[in-house]
Amino acid sequence: MSKYDVAIIGGGILGTSISYWISSLYDVNLCVIEKESNVAMHASSRNTAVVHSPFYLNPKTKKVLAKSALISYEMWEKLAKKTNVPWNKTGVLEIAINEGQHDTLEEYMDWGIKNGIPSQDLELLDAKQVAQIEPNVKCHSAIYSKREVSTDYGAFTNEIKKESNALGTNFIFQKNVKQIKKNQNNSIIIFDDDSNITADFVINCAGGNSLDIAQMLGLATEYSDLHFRGEYWVADPQYSDLVKTTIYTVAEFKGYPFLDPHWIKKANGQA
Ligand SMILES: Cc1cc2nc3c(=O)[nH]c(=O)nc-3n(C[C@H](O)[C@H](O)[C@H](O)COP(=O)(O)OP(=O)(O)OC[C@H]3O[C@@H](n4cnc5c(N)ncnc54)[C@H](O)[C@@H]3O)c2cc1C
Repeated sequence: MSKYDVAIIGGGILGTSISYWISSLYDVNLCVIEKESNVAMHASSRNTAVVHSPFYLNPKTKKVLAKSALISYEMWEKLAKKTNVPWNKTGVLEIAINEGQHDTLEEYMDWGIKNGIPSQDLELLDAKQVAQIEPNVKCHSAIYSKREVSTDYGAFTNEIKKESNALGTNFIFQKNVKQIKKNQNNSIIIFDDDSNITADFVINCAGGNSLDIAQMLGLATEYSDLHFRGEYWVADPQYSDLVKTTIYTVAEFKGYPFLDPHWIKKANGQA
């Protein structure tokens, strides 16, 4: 039975990045357990791939998240330059189609500045100004967030994996955690092929399965989760240059800013 100081469950962008930080800061025996054959096989490579600027986060309730987004932007940019990960500054237009949605944009402008986005990177535009940037977009008004980038988070995760590997992290693939037994000093992590490892500390980064992992440890038993899916459609090539910018609409529910339909200008040029 292998023994680790720290075992991270989940090799998405979160688990892989945490493995990198821990192994760069401490001399520990660390592993990442991933049920697939590589890192970033789920949300971390199948997302919209936009590096967002936090104008949509309420600084009163989401201050730390906003600050993290701002700080990490420069780190991603540095890593993209060092590697071959795409970094296309497409910008984002967050569009309002009526006066009510425009009020939300004004609030977002205030939040964006309070969250530390440089004022030259955030502009509130009227319909005419939007048309000058994107003649095919008709709206009431929009925020033009110039810093936003289209990238490839799967490629980023693979680069971080390489760096973490070089620092000594052991990536254990094709092992699906089915049970965790907690002793006084450590945990026994049991896989669905009945093999196991022990670890002094377990870090739960299992994405959509995080609640299942927490509940294996007897935690968060009062919660349940709801999984839902979205659809990405790829526009036919003759339409991919209809707009150059990534476009979001003001969300119907402010707490879920990315669930409404959006048009993404991807790093590979597709829309
Ligand atoms: C549709 C969509 C669009 C998004 N767009 C953006 C965007 O444009 N910009 C942005 O910044 N963020 C975006 N996000 C959010 C971002 O993708 C996620 O926050 C991020 O990928 C989460 O990473 P993760 O490592 O926590 O989870 P995941 O990538 O899901 O990784 C979890 C890993 O845990 C593994 N695992 C689970 N259970 C077990 C188990 N029992 N045993 C072993 N391994 C296990 C899984 O196989 C998986 O690889 C989007 C998300 C979605 C769903």
